[in-house]
Amino acid sequence: MTENNIKPSYQRIQVLNYLLCHHTHPTADTIYKALSNNVPAISRATVYNALRLFSGKGIISTFSADNMEMRYDILTDSHGHFICKVCQTIYNFPYTYHNKYAGLEGFQIDKEEITLRGICSSCKAK
Ligand SMILES: [Zn+2]
Ligand SMILES: [Zn+2]
Repeated sequence: MTENNIKPSYQRIQVLNYLLCHHTHPTADTIYKALSNNVPAISRATVYNALRLFSGKGIISTFSADNMEMRYDILTDSHGHFICKVCQTIYNFPYTYHNKYAGLEGFQIDKEEITLRGICSSCKAK
């Protein structure tokens, strides 16, 4: 954290730690609710500010699809998402950019987001 010029306050460390331990693409509110019981002096604003700071520095990535609330992810390298329509879980899967898109020759692609939708294996097994 210090190498990114971020003051490592206890609350900020807890926000980052939550993301490190939960690869579930939580919303800011989910993180706040989870931390509010055991992190003193934490507020929604602290969580939002920490998340904005981390994503601004590229330490975490953000993701949103449809009208979903913004989700936060500790994974910053390119990976795809699979959204289960039954349990709403957002899964990560490894994905490397290797295709040139037909029709976009000469374009500069800054960000590529792959989102697949369907039913995850555990929901399908039910
Ligand atoms: Zn599912
Ligand atoms: Zn992800």
